[in-house]
Amino acid sequence: MRDDTRQWIEADKRHAWHPFTPQDAWTDPAHEPLVIVRGEGPWLWDSEGRRYLDGNSSIWTNIHGHAHPSINAAIRDQLGRIAHSSYLGFAHPLAGELAEKLCSFFPAGTLERVFFSDDGSTAIEVAMKMSLQFRMQTGHAERRGFIAFADGYHGDTLGAASLGGVSRFFERFRGMGPEVGFVRSVEELETKDPAGINAVVIEPLIQGVNEMRPWPAGMLRALRAWCDRHGVLLILDEVMTGFGRTGTLFACQREGVIPDFLCVAKGLTGGYLPMAATLTTGRIYDAFRGPAENAFYYGHSFTANPLGCAAALASLSLFESERVLEKLPAKADHLAGLLSRLQADRDEVVDVRQCGLVAGIELRTGLGAEVCLKARDHGLLTRPIRDTLVLMPPLCVETEHLDLAVDAIRSAIRSLPPAAELR
Ligand SMILES: *Cc1c(COP(=O)(O)O)cnc(C)c1O
Repeated sequence: MRDDTRQWIEADKRHAWHPFTPQDAWTDPAHEPLVIVRGEGPWLWDSEGRRYLDGNSSIWTNIHGHAHPSINAAIRDQLGRIAHSSYLGFAHPLAGELAEKLCSFFPAGTLERVFFSDDGSTAIEVAMKMSLQFRMQTGHAERRGFIAFADGYHGDTLGAASLGGVSRFFERFRGMGPEVGFVRSVEELETKDPAGINAVVIEPLIQGVNEMRPWPAGMLRALRAWCDRHGVLLILDEVMTGFGRTGTLFACQREGVIPDFLCVAKGLTGGYLPMAATLTTGRIYDAFRGPAENAFYYGHSFTANPLGCAAALASLSLFESERVLEKLPAKADHLAGLLSRLQADRDEVVDVRQCGLVAGIELRTGLGAEVCLKARDHGLLTRPIRDTLVLMPPLCVETEHLDLAVDAIRSAIRSLPPAAELR
């Protein structure tokens, strides 16, 4: 190990605290974390000069690859003017342009207002608070309850976490946030009394943190119909599915569904900077007009950060100039072929699940972490969720990169010691 790598790791282990991480295992002297120092396209390099395919798009954020010349140039250009200015009390040139651009993807008269925040969790918080205040200001303060889906994930701030159904993360905080009921399907929702319900929240088309589980086709449309029948608002969490991951720019477009709130974050800036947006309708917006006390008193210091806006606009224009969505079906089909061959070849693969360029490869119990670690030796970097390997590369991958990724997993499985196979 190089001296600088060793120093970086020592400082990290002495003073930093990692997300979702049991720190004793992290700081164990035997644990040698990779130090990522550079990226280009779908590739990452560590401080020892080793190259890896970014198999989970740097925790589901990257869209067009790393260090893309036009996103870098847009950020640099904005940096030469100003890095940050207040959006409280002032405007800047790019936020309005970005808001207009985001609304342009939806039919006129539907999603037409954009509230900016910082990350997926805050985009969800905004939708929660906005929907509750909307009820207070439209004569239905009794509609305070939320419905979320079992095993769903919506972020880690206390409000967003209360919608989370992944019990190992959220159970200890139950009852400390808003009222939330959980269901597993639209059929189960139909058994609920809608009277006190404010909004339903869902990850459309596929649940991410729940080991990449797609919903049945048509489910989202059925959910929208139930909400409409009962006057319940629909919040779509497209923090993971947004910006082409599932094949369309937004997952909801696959089923022609327009929500009351659409939350985006991770890929909004192409994955370059932390920024989020909550889109909503004119109907919601109108309830916050009139007297000053009707306003939505909410915001963060870095709301509508200009560097983030510059990156987001550059990322969105790449969808057009590089015809990203047109190229996705061939890539997704290629991946589907690779995954079904992998499953046919290897008994260790229990199930494969895929939606667009998002895939989960479920392995036999106990194999997830080990296969992921071994896949590094074959040039693939990703993380498992329990025993499901996540394969969610940047949309700029070519078929040969997908070949490399699945070959790396196959080689990693093949190299398991016999003892692991017995577990
Ligand atoms: C990652 C994620 C979030 C939380 O986003 P952060 O930026 O990590 O706060 C919320 N919802 C979904 C579906 C996610 O995948």
